[in-house]
Amino acid sequence: NADTAMYHAKASGRSNFHWFTTAMLQQTEEKLALGTALRRAIESSELTIVYQPEISLRDGRIVGMEALVRWSSPRHGEVSPDRFIPVAEETGLILTLGEWVLHSACRECVALQRTAGRNLRLAVNVSPRQFQQKDLPQLLQRVLTESGLPAHCMELEITEGMLMQSPEESAEVLRELRRLGIAIVVDDFGTGYSSLAYLTRFPIDKIKIDRSFVRDIANDAADAAVVNAIIAMARSLDIRVIAEGVETEEQEQYLLDRGCDEVQGFRYSPGVRAEDFARLLEPPRAA
Ligand code: C2E
Ligand code: MG
Ligand code: MG
Ligand code: MG
Repeated sequence: NADTAMYHAKASGRSNFHWFTTAMLQQTEEKLALGTALRRAIESSELTIVYQPEISLRDGRIVGMEALVRWSSPRHGEVSPDRFIPVAEETGLILTLGEWVLHSACRECVALQRTAGRNLRLAVNVSPRQFQQKDLPQLLQRVLTESGLPAHCMELEITEGMLMQSPEESAEVLRELRRLGIAIVVDDFGTGYSSLAYLTRFPIDKIKIDRSFVRDIANDAADAAVVNAIIAMARSLDIRVIAEGVETEEQEQYLLDRGCDEVQGFRYSPGVRAEDFARLLEPPRAA
């Protein structure tokens, strides 16, 4: 049906499919309804956070987690963040939502570190409006202090587009974040329109290769070439590199052979609730 769009949300490892009409979402009224529902969701307990492990290819150990927000709405069902984050961004709700995610994720990460008996990194996604927020460094400092998460455990995921919007201001914000000890990750790397030269102009600690390049890595020569180039470049610039969307052993082996530092994907685990993450931490996978 040309008039329907499929939304695929993964909640606690389950897959849920929901069908809405495209027309519905295009209507401002409906967006407002989603916005209103989202406002309520933030105040009630409809939002949760799942954590997806990031694994070192050096020893197969979990070295960190990415916080991914989930919304289970009584009215709209499981809504994918690809749908509601843009609405939150448009309505400005993202600032409230983002602050809630930061506080909750930092608290849960500290608890997981205690369980693990070692440091784990926490990666949090920020959207353009959050990144432009005047007091972002102060907010992060406050969240770190309140939660007790060491600054060097915190990674902020931004996208190329956000950097290029206003490069001067962005560079200043990134320098301030780095002064706090927070690491900067460029998410969905390779999908932006920017030149690679910017990597040397911003204080970037890590790049996350977009999963669209990882998917066909083993049989698409062009995708493989892009991934090879990204890894080689990152290594020569002394920037860590992680690949997202790793689903098969073949993809893992390819990335391992090229010297990719870390991996993330369904091969290891989808995003899971903090309780379930604790269980993933137990014995390291055999080398
Ligand atoms: P992202 O930051 O690029 O997150 C990775 C997405 O890929 C997640 O989708 C994750 O569930 C999915 N994924 C992970 N491994 C695999 C795999 O092996 N195969 C496939 N096919 N997919 C995989 P999710 O959770 O639906 O999030 C979508 C996007 O929503 C995120 O993309 C991020 O841009 C945004 N987002 C999620 N949580 C937050 C948040 O707390 N704040 C903000 N501002 N944005 C968020
Ligand atoms: Mg991300
Ligand atoms: Mg990504
Ligand atoms: Mg993304």
